[in-house]
Amino acid sequence: MKIELHEIRIRDLVDGYSDGADPRFYKALHQHDPNATPLWLYFQKVISWVKATFPKTRPPMKHVDWGCLYNKFAEAPLDAKMLEVEIARLVADSDVQRKSGIWEYVLDGDERHLNIRAFDGNTRLEAYERQHGLCAICREHFELEEMEADHITPWRQGGRTIPDNCQMLCRDCNRRKGAK
Ligand SMILES: [Zn+2]
Repeated sequence: MKIELHEIRIRDLVDGYSDGADPRFYKALHQHDPNATPLWLYFQKVISWVKATFPKTRPPMKHVDWGCLYNKFAEAPLDAKMLEVEIARLVADSDVQRKSGIWEYVLDGDERHLNIRAFDGNTRLEAYERQHGLCAICREHFELEEMEADHITPWRQGGRTIPDNCQMLCRDCNRRKGAK
């Protein structure tokens, strides 16, 4: 049985497989699959890296594509203690809706992995009403559908997805703010 690299998930870290392999991989190994040895070595390297970099395991880790992260970051100098502080904070943050994206985020800094909670329809409408339909930056008038909800204090700087932190911006202003 041939197992492709992209099928590797380090679910042993959370599910307790003894030596860290997908059970199908063991089967391949014991059947002397010629494809299995390089895969086994690669898999061991990935696991060692994950255990050294993220010693504390949490359930969402089983959905992370570790092979991909290993390929990108194995050579990067990483501080496991600092990463753990950041991960613990993000796991506890209810605005982080996609917890399995946390490990990618702490490595590459791309918020899209986290699916940060967006403002809901009522919150957007209330902010629009408070602003009398004027963009909070350029003060031009727009229809609700032409505007976008913005975190006044960006999430990255500690701003929450709560009504007090919501303002409506026109698309151009929002894009310019986002680019800063
Ligand atoms: Zn504007």
